Amino acid sequence: TETLHIVGGGMAGSEAAWQAAEMGVDVVLHEMRPKVGTFAHQTGLLGEMVCSNSFRSDDDEQNAVGLLHWEMRAAGGLIMNMADKHRLPAGGALAVDRDHFAQSVTDTLNAHPRITIDYGEISELPATGHWIFATGPLTSSKLSAAIAAETGGAALAFFDAIAPIVYFDTIDMSRAWMQSRYDKGETEAERTAYLNCPMDKEQYEAFIDALLAADKTEFKEGETADYFDGCLPIEVMAERGRETLRFGPMKPVGLTNPHQPDVKPYAVVQLRRDNKLGTLYNIVGFQTKMKYGAQASVFKSIPGLKNASFARLGGIHRNTFLNAPTLLDAQMRLRSRPNIRFAGQITGVEGYVESASMGLLAGRLAAAEILGIALSTPADTTATGALITHISGGAEAKTFQPMNVNFGLFPPVEGLKSGRRGRKDRYKAYTDRAKTDWQSWLDAVKEPA
Ligand code: FAD
Repeated sequence: TETLHIVGGGMAGSEAAWQAAEMGVDVVLHEMRPKVGTFAHQTGLLGEMVCSNSFRSDDDEQNAVGLLHWEMRAAGGLIMNMADKHRLPAGGALAVDRDHFAQSVTDTLNAHPRITIDYGEISELPATGHWIFATGPLTSSKLSAAIAAETGGAALAFFDAIAPIVYFDTIDMSRAWMQSRYDKGETEAERTAYLNCPMDKEQYEAFIDALLAADKTEFKEGETADYFDGCLPIEVMAERGRETLRFGPMKPVGLTNPHQPDVKPYAVVQLRRDNKLGTLYNIVGFQTKMKYGAQASVFKSIPGLKNASFARLGGIHRNTFLNAPTLLDAQMRLRSRPNIRFAGQITGVEGYVESASMGLLAGRLAAAEILGIALSTPADTTATGALITHISGGAEAKTFQPMNVNFGLFPPVEGLKSGRRGRKDRYKAYTDRAKTDWQSWLDAVKEPA
């Protein structure tokens, strides 16, 4: 059979190599370190964790990340297996000894009879052969240039600018309302694409004070922050002048509050639909470097968001990622060059666990293709399936930003209470359904069509 080439031996590439080799495909894993480094990696080991040593929650009944752990374990995943071996006590989280973890990922891949590790940088997208690119948020500059030449520069970003994302069913609609500015749009859906939260002068001034006082995260050394004006953090906008936000993303024009039609709001926070399901809304223009604790308290002071739950908080990081909804198909192939797959963080997921899971999927899909097995993408009711469905088409392409796994990506289970009150039952129902569907997907490989 043909060889599978995988570029990048991080979370995604290591998992992809393991999965494909275990399915019986020969793999060459290309890793540029230690010959070429990045500002964040410290070693030449595969599967190096560049920052925290945690794979986050291990709860597979109430947490979507924990469910991803479960799915990867059920698939015989290398990253989870090595994490379990080098686990450290950390309450409900899966934290590991990072050195032993990366060493054992490296040793295990090295020892696999079907895997060859080739240390060197790949700087082009090859025209032939089966390839998976899993080069991560710090993809080398030569390769980035080659990718941009293929996809068009606008479809490859070098920084993310993540606005906080709120679960729709935790927004107080007795305060907020749906309306696009000046009622713009051809259809009813377009005219009500935004959700608005009004502020009076006192609320606005208090909000600006809170932004200015909040704890912020600094950029790391080497992670230069050349913001372009279109994506300044909100706290930086507030520092430029107390009125800047009121003339920027919070401008109150073209909107009428149906709850108080006679009162003109002093400022308006807008949220925009973030996925086709309509379960997630992002706060428009609210990318931020505030620390997570500060974000939660500042954003909950917005009228209508007092009881909001966040699917993810905001951030701005050095992060090379593709506009996956336009570029990738559900098999993770580049639409314009189907011999090339992408996997890991570069596909627009965020985090060690999500990246490993997108490696697992790419490795299996590529191996199946080489072996002539028809393997479909897992159902969007599984955590892995929900992620790939989101990035390859469920997300809004125009405003696409990297995503963590969360239950807002899952199709609702009918007949359960919405909002915060039904949460526990709902999450249990999601995870039960996911486990059954994930097992069927795994079984599909064992019984080739
Ligand atoms: P990586 O793990 O980065 O692996 C990509 C690999 O590709 C690297 O080994 C790299 O050397 C190699 N490579 C790049 N270009 C080439 C090339 N041209 N040829 C050959 N090899 C190449 N996530 C978390 O969950 N928790 C955190 O605390 C966290 N902190 C982070 C801090 C920083 C500074 C950064 C940049 C990211 C952080 N992330 C964190 C995100 C994290 O990097 C990813 O979630 C995860 O490592 C991505 O996995 P990956 O396999 O896609 O990329």
